[in-house]
Amino acid sequence: MSSELLVIGGGLAGCEAALAAARSGVAVRLVDMKPEQFSPAHHSPHLGELVCSNSLRSDVLTSAVGLLKAEMSLLDSAVMRAARATAVGAGKALAVDREAFAGHLEGQIAAQPLISRETALVDTLPDEVAVLATGPLTAGALADQLAKLTGSNHLHFYDAIAPIVSLESVDMDHAYWGDRYGEPGQGDYLNCPLSREEWAEFYAALTTAEQVPLKDFESPQFFEGCLPIEVMAARGEKTLLFGPMKPVGLEDPATGKRPHAVVQLRKENAAGSVLNLVGFQTKLTYPAQDAVFRKIPALAGAEFVRWGSIHRNTFLDAPRVLDPHQRLIAAPHLFVAGQLSGVEGYVESAAMGILCGINAANLLHDRPLLSPPPTCALGGLVRHLRDTTSKSFQPSNVNFGLLPPLEGKVFKRQRGAAQARRALTDFLAWMAEAGLEPAGPLPEVPEEARA
Ligand SMILES: Cc1cc2nc3c(=O)[nH]c(=O)nc-3n(C[C@H](O)[C@H](O)[C@H](O)COP(=O)(O)OP(=O)(O)OC[C@H]3O[C@@H](n4cnc5c(N)ncnc54)[C@H](O)[C@@H]3O)c2cc1C
Repeated sequence: MSSELLVIGGGLAGCEAALAAARSGVAVRLVDMKPEQFSPAHHSPHLGELVCSNSLRSDVLTSAVGLLKAEMSLLDSAVMRAARATAVGAGKALAVDREAFAGHLEGQIAAQPLISRETALVDTLPDEVAVLATGPLTAGALADQLAKLTGSNHLHFYDAIAPIVSLESVDMDHAYWGDRYGEPGQGDYLNCPLSREEWAEFYAALTTAEQVPLKDFESPQFFEGCLPIEVMAARGEKTLLFGPMKPVGLEDPATGKRPHAVVQLRKENAAGSVLNLVGFQTKLTYPAQDAVFRKIPALAGAEFVRWGSIHRNTFLDAPRVLDPHQRLIAAPHLFVAGQLSGVEGYVESAAMGILCGINAANLLHDRPLLSPPPTCALGGLVRHLRDTTSKSFQPSNVNFGLLPPLEGKVFKRQRGAAQARRALTDFLAWMAEAGLEPAGPLPEVPEEARA
């Protein structure tokens, strides 16, 4: 076995993977097609490009993404190092000067003598140990090869995501459990009814809400079976009432009556702590979703852990094609990191890059591969990639719903702190057991805080 690691893709995940492996003493060949060729969303010649927003989201330790940042820093994350060095004021979020950020990250790569860089478009799956980190816009033939290896139904090119809410935030005075034509009050679906008046208000808001303009590389053709909710609504009021908001067979057990319309929520994870709005994939802007979906009475005060979206995104059906260490089951010498593996977001992609870099180095050194504890944010992401609950796997941002529930009763406003405390304790214990030295001091978790 060659002792060199090939990393394909020098985005956030690829840079992290290369640097993590190099820190473990492995020589790395990092290959990216830039600046010779660019994906439709990449424009900078630098590695580690932030393709859209310059924000890495919340920097509050009691939020899931803030916790993930803390865990990454303990693992000596290059992305976190670059972000801290190039941060711009953004309140409780961590936002960066994108040019300086990419420059810093590239500087870390250049300063690492074990990493050599190459510019090339890779169009075949390698035979050697490699990390595939080619991202949501993986170029050409490499994506085709992945589809061939995994089966074309296991590589997706579009994300059609319905919004996701946390169960605990749904107003149960306006919601009830029940499957269509099932036993009232029992079942897998949480139903959110609307009266005729509530429906009229919701429908008016939905059909006039602002939509995200399609990028020039995004096809305006949607699959008929996966139409955005606003496109269905534009076809006429009846389309939704006979479609995803059909009330038939969903009588309210409190009144025995059939509501005018019903939004059904379905479990998004095995624990059932987060639920998606069935059939609500959408291209509405986030503020428009915030305004429109809160007109559903049960969701007026809900915590939306993820908004809906439809965009170009190449990702694997992780639970069915990756092993517990993010290697392709059909080619276990190939690790998959970043957005391609089925996580969503800059921070999440980078985090999975670190883990794959460490494990690829371990594989080359004949050492055991590592799995972070499920109670930490990084472990929560791994858990998501292993979750076979849903037949149609969707990428996810990190959120506390991916972690096992806390034990005992914890007041809502103390849950973030309790999650962070449990996560960091377990994370440090895991690092110690794995022989990984924390790269910095343990951050202090505030006693009581809200994300
Ligand atoms: C249009 C768009 C906007 C997004 N906006 C945000 C946002 O605002 N916030 C957020 O958190 N997340 C956003 N994301 C999601 C995602 O988190 C980012 O795309 C993130 O950059 C993914 O990191 P990555 O390392 O997996 O891939 P990337 O950062 O995309 O890196 C992949 C690298 O691989 C290279 N590459 C691709 N194919 C090949 C090949 N065959 N051979 C050689 N090199 C190749 C590319 O040049 C690129 O440098 C967005 C995604 C898209 C598509």
